[in-house]
Amino acid sequence: MLYELLSNSCVACDLCASRCPWYPVFKPSQRNLGIREAVESCTMCGNCVLGCPLKVPTHKATFERKVKGLIPNDLKKLRERVEEKGSTFGIKMDWGALKGFPLDERAEWLVLPGGFDPLPTSRNDFLALLWTLRELGVDFTLSTEVPEGFGNFYFDYADPQYFKKKAIKIIKVAKALGVKGLLLSECGADYKVWPRVTSYLKIKHDLRVEMAVNLISKKLRPRHVVRKVPWKTSYHDPCGLSRYNFLTEPPRKILKIISENYEEREPGGRDQLCCGGGGGVSLSEAWKRRAVEAVGRKKVEQFKGVEIVATACAKCKSMLLTYSLLLRGGFRVHRIGYLVAWSMGKPLPPP
Ligand code: SF4
Ligand code: SF4
Repeated sequence: MLYELLSNSCVACDLCASRCPWYPVFKPSQRNLGIREAVESCTMCGNCVLGCPLKVPTHKATFERKVKGLIPNDLKKLRERVEEKGSTFGIKMDWGALKGFPLDERAEWLVLPGGFDPLPTSRNDFLALLWTLRELGVDFTLSTEVPEGFGNFYFDYADPQYFKKKAIKIIKVAKALGVKGLLLSECGADYKVWPRVTSYLKIKHDLRVEMAVNLISKKLRPRHVVRKVPWKTSYHDPCGLSRYNFLTEPPRKILKIISENYEEREPGGRDQLCCGGGGGVSLSEAWKRRAVEAVGRKKVEQFKGVEIVATACAKCKSMLLTYSLLLRGGFRVHRIGYLVAWSMGKPLPPP
């Protein structure tokens, strides 16, 4: 009731507009009017809500429009192609490459790989994350029945029912393995949905839901670091961590331990400007191209002079790297798990 009241109370004052990664091309008020292109491009980052005096939940209302079919045509086609394979990109996880890590064993945590993790471009990142967790003494297992967390099906493909089916199965696998909790890899879409599957989808369970980055921040100590990251490093907050889950300090705590030269760039924390890739934008070739000019210019400006932009989401990494390459941002982009593994001495190419 309150939600509906708030959803319909946008007065188009545009006080929230400059927080939107797509501003001035699109504004949240256009999304509240249901304008197709504005809806399709919404990343559901939730930044507009922080700037709205009425707290209009633009991202939630926009999501409902997406669920009713207002998603880009190329995303719809991609969704049909990947349906059969049952993974975000239609690529199966290469379990052989993860040899040496516990698989289908009893453990404290069941790791949920992110939707990007099976991609060849993310494989090293995922391996580095698992290696880091193991070195820090985290008791975890993977499961061949859980190739990813499927959060992208909820937020990007806007198909809550498909996600629900997969989530119920994951919870069943977790119970059978006797784990106490689900440990999320570095995936913004999983961060957004997994901590609230009960409120969003009425799925009841008693498992803990934890983010790998948060667990690393609790366990990492300066004594674990054998070489510090020497390059000027800054951090981009994924919306799923910062705005959806208030997790802004743990990644910074890690970076301050492993970097010699950490520098904060504004806006940061819960005010961070979205990478522009959520809500299906990074999966839709057409919208990703448009995001380069509309969003990329601002991100490149924000991180001017930085050598490494660290982040805790594969999707953010993919968008920021695209911007840096196409707009000559001059920075490299790495996931935190990779940077920690390198600083702890894992033989990896230097970041
Ligand atoms: S992209 Fe983010 S800031 Fe812009 S309307 Fe959507 S949720 Fe709001
Ligand atoms: S969402 Fe809020 S701040 Fe943005 S235009 Fe509507 S009323 Fe104004």
